[in-house]
Amino acid sequence: MSSAAKKLVNWTPTDIKADMLAKYPPKVARKRASQILINEALGNETPEITANVRTIPGIITMRGCTYAGCKGVILGPTRDIVNITHGPIGCGFYSWLTRRNQTDASAEGAENFMPYCFSTDMQDQDIIFGGEKKLQAAIQEAYDLFHPKAIAVFATCPVGLIGDDIHAVARKMKAKFGDCNVFAFSCEGYKGVSQSAGHHIANNKIFSEVVGENDAEKPGQFKINLLGEYNIGGDGFEIDRILKKCGITNISTFSGNSTYDQFASAHKADLSAVMCHRSINYVADMLETKFGIPWIKVNFIGAKSTAKSLRKIAEYFGDPGLTARVEEVIAEEMPAVDAVVSDVLPRTTGKTAMLFVGGSRAHHYQDLFAEMGMKTVAAGYEFAHRDDYEGRHVIPNLKVDADSRNIEEIEVEADEKRYAPRKTSEEMARLEAAGLKFKEYDGLIPDMDHRTLVVDDLNQYEAEKLVEIMRPDVFCAGIKEKFSIQKLGIPMKQLHSYDSGGPYAGFQGAVNFYHEIDRLVNSRVWSYMKAPWQETPELSATYVWE
Ligand code: SF4
Repeated sequence: MSSAAKKLVNWTPTDIKADMLAKYPPKVARKRASQILINEALGNETPEITANVRTIPGIITMRGCTYAGCKGVILGPTRDIVNITHGPIGCGFYSWLTRRNQTDASAEGAENFMPYCFSTDMQDQDIIFGGEKKLQAAIQEAYDLFHPKAIAVFATCPVGLIGDDIHAVARKMKAKFGDCNVFAFSCEGYKGVSQSAGHHIANNKIFSEVVGENDAEKPGQFKINLLGEYNIGGDGFEIDRILKKCGITNISTFSGNSTYDQFASAHKADLSAVMCHRSINYVADMLETKFGIPWIKVNFIGAKSTAKSLRKIAEYFGDPGLTARVEEVIAEEMPAVDAVVSDVLPRTTGKTAMLFVGGSRAHHYQDLFAEMGMKTVAAGYEFAHRDDYEGRHVIPNLKVDADSRNIEEIEVEADEKRYAPRKTSEEMARLEAAGLKFKEYDGLIPDMDHRTLVVDDLNQYEAEKLVEIMRPDVFCAGIKEKFSIQKLGIPMKQLHSYDSGGPYAGFQGAVNFYHEIDRLVNSRVWSYMKAPWQETPELSATYVWE
């Protein structure tokens, strides 16, 4: 039966999976089959998916490189560290401001180096004779011009191949300056299978070189760290607004709207709230091991999820005043949200979405779509690991392969002087018995509907195939997918950089999202995608071999 004819009858998920794999050579089909899953999660029984493995050569992946994860995702949103890309100019240029991280540098004396693109701009002779001298000169120049608190150096592929010792250069310059922390990241693009490796390299270094550097007491009664929030389109501003309104102090965000000092003071918080599990859960673990700060999973994407996360934070602190204030804030914010929901619901209910983005966004945004009565029919991550799909209970069974061994694991022990458990074991047990879960994340799969599709590392070909078969009302991914999907007549929403929109987090963000998705899925423009010559071609031809 032809594809076109079959679209008229009901496709089962099994048919769709088979069709996605049909064109592949047998070996490729076998590998991809283990990364495409028909969701049959039941209770605690979660089906196993293959994730965090190399993309098959020749496939056009949606992933980014390790350098992009380190420099672009984690350090990119920090405003007062000078980030120098050591490599040819392309890597620095294309990772410059592309994620629309916003920052607030309005305070007196605040530095903001984010609008600059610093690179050593390596040339052929640097590749042949080595680039260390050039790097040293670049660090010196940045120091002389800006006198920053810190300078970070990022290795790109050619630097790893020729073997420049960027760490030795960084150590030498740090010792020379005395008042500027200089550190380097071995985050060559090829180092891991995706940007996830870059997140790990960045976070390990920030933890070992910066966290704990500032022991000054921070004001505030209820102090938290917000981990894995990158202030895309102003999300972090909206979350900070809500936290402040509740009386909760955000000591450090990793790393939206962040500063060097925020990282240096992270050990002063009493709770870590984890947004993006993939990019940062190990930092939450290390903060607990070294300083005694417990962590919980939160989600500020979706109005109901925001309310739920605020209640979780209040429950942890167990202060009646905070609990009452959180309820007041929710009661104040929700009417505006509810008004927009009831306006858009008649137009959005029953529409469908596909989400292929990030390590957590493909999960978090399902809450927003659910609030609009929309169903997520297929979803998956670009760079997640099995625990992000199936839940943290699989972590002890994760295979350590050559690629994961390539990424340094740092050994963390309790800090002799500063380790202080924030709650006694009895208090923790009481909170757990009351339903507050620590160090827990159940993953994407259990939250998705039965018989929906979960696809890891979706590629260009499969994306087009899925859209052709299932015709979702909106497809969410990144810039690389945007125009090819739109050419198929389906609206495409970028959920890495939000196109030109946002914020979408918190209460006001949810309202923005409802309006925007309502416009996208109900616009008639998508039905005019066929050019006149596609409908009534004047000329037709066949190849000689047809
Ligand atoms: S893969 Fe290598 S060369 Fe390409 S952007 Fe990443 S670091 Fe640069």
